[in-house]
Amino acid sequence: MNEIQHWIDGRVVASTSGRTAPVYNPALGEQSGVVALASVEEVDAAVASAKAAAPGWRSTSLSKRAEILFRMRELVDANRKEIATLLTAEHGKVLSDSMGEVARGLENIEFACGVPHLLKGGFSEQAATGVDVYSIRQPLGVVAGITPFNFPAMVPMWMFANALACGNTFVLKPSEKDPSVAMFVAELLSKAGLPDGCFNIVQGDKVAVDRLLDHDDIAAVSFVGSTPIAKYIYETGTKNGKRVQALGGAKNHMLVLADADLDMAADAAIGAAYGSAGERCMAISVVLAADSIADDLVAKIADRIPAVKVGNGMEPDSEMGPLITAESKERVTGYIDGAPAEGATVVVDGRTDDHGAGYFVNPTLLDNVRPGMKCYDDEIFGPVLSVTRVNGYEDGVALINASPFANGTAIFTRDGGAARQFQFDIEVGMVGINVPIPVPVSYYSFGGWKASLFGDTHMYGPEGINFYTRGKVVTSRWPDPATSEVDLGFPQNR
Ligand code: NAD
Repeated sequence: MNEIQHWIDGRVVASTSGRTAPVYNPALGEQSGVVALASVEEVDAAVASAKAAAPGWRSTSLSKRAEILFRMRELVDANRKEIATLLTAEHGKVLSDSMGEVARGLENIEFACGVPHLLKGGFSEQAATGVDVYSIRQPLGVVAGITPFNFPAMVPMWMFANALACGNTFVLKPSEKDPSVAMFVAELLSKAGLPDGCFNIVQGDKVAVDRLLDHDDIAAVSFVGSTPIAKYIYETGTKNGKRVQALGGAKNHMLVLADADLDMAADAAIGAAYGSAGERCMAISVVLAADSIADDLVAKIADRIPAVKVGNGMEPDSEMGPLITAESKERVTGYIDGAPAEGATVVVDGRTDDHGAGYFVNPTLLDNVRPGMKCYDDEIFGPVLSVTRVNGYEDGVALINASPFANGTAIFTRDGGAARQFQFDIEVGMVGINVPIPVPVSYYSFGGWKASLFGDTHMYGPEGINFYTRGKVVTSRWPDPATSEVDLGFPQNR
């Protein structure tokens, strides 16, 4: 059985903690491996390695750091298929979707290759007579990343690409549900020429996370996962004096106005609700349909569902794979079980045992869903799309703005004025206009509002560079003996 261990100081390190967790192939419903769960001492060893590497890496020139990232870019590009295959085997998402994930992760490495430009400071010559002032940004030291199961390649890349580019060293704690991709990526970083100790992996659970949160040598923590854990990470990390960005869960709404192209909206809803079996923080889980077109839209979505090919993600024609675990399947089907009693209509029922022991739920469509029902209020994180009928724009916006989550949202309309007003009115971090999954490109930043983000800084892009550096301003004068005098007053700019 495949044993997944730690990566410390540039090599695989076998765990001695005596604790492990099973890793499954979700399409087959079989255990495929066993992952180590780190002890406190193992986390300390990874942090010590990162700490020892930090002064050398920080002193490495920007052009050398960029050169290593360019090599990493080539290696990830050359190994897209290998990474995607590992990913599908443990996560379950279909191969084409895994390839897409790798491509979106790679964008972040490409962005980080521009670090010499990104770290340019400001310079003011002659701010006072003979005095120049300039700003620089410096790395934080050792930083940690704690990542979710649903993007085991992309989310670590959101973090480590910029963190390393800025001169930090990194300790990653991947999800224990699909830990193999991270190990493969660590090897690639090594091959790219990253010095030992700059990138470490501790496999583990709460024990490892809690140690990272209270370790004095960890300067900052980036987290992506569910809202309760994000809140815990933010509160614990900041209490311990760390800089923290903690991205949480989501419940994303798509507002379809009466003038929208309904075929385009139905296609978009299918892709955004059922892609990756709904296990995306940017998945659309609620369609808010204007009353006058709601029946048509529900019919168009329902008509498209039978065409979605559900199956093992390794099969080239599969479009939607299984959920991550048996518990996930049980949780998701529980929402479908409970929906009718709450007043919702099950239009398409995806509860199934058609796929053997795999953890599959087929695409499911619920209609007449209202706030206050569990299927509306909770993040289901499965292939269950709810339709809520609204009077129109105002009603739709009010519902979206009343949600405690605020990760992504989308409007479908042909009315440019309504779309522009939506962008102005809506209290959500990422907005799509006729685009259902508005994940920003790598040179913008990713992040929600409200319960979808704890902390002030969004992830990757310019905000990522800011998160992984701290500013310093230098005021300098080179001595001119002719102007030297004693002055006890507060420095003034003359
Ligand atoms: P999760 O919160 O269960 O786990 C995330 C990480 O936290 C994992 O590494 C896990 O080992 C660790 N963890 C879990 N329980 C912990 C505890 N009690 N104490 C300390 N650490 C703990 O999330 P998940 O199930 O892996 O991922 C799915 C969730 O992530 C969904 O809610 C999804 O919306 C969210 N997500 C959000 C974004 C975003 O950008 N906002 C992106 C991807 C996923």
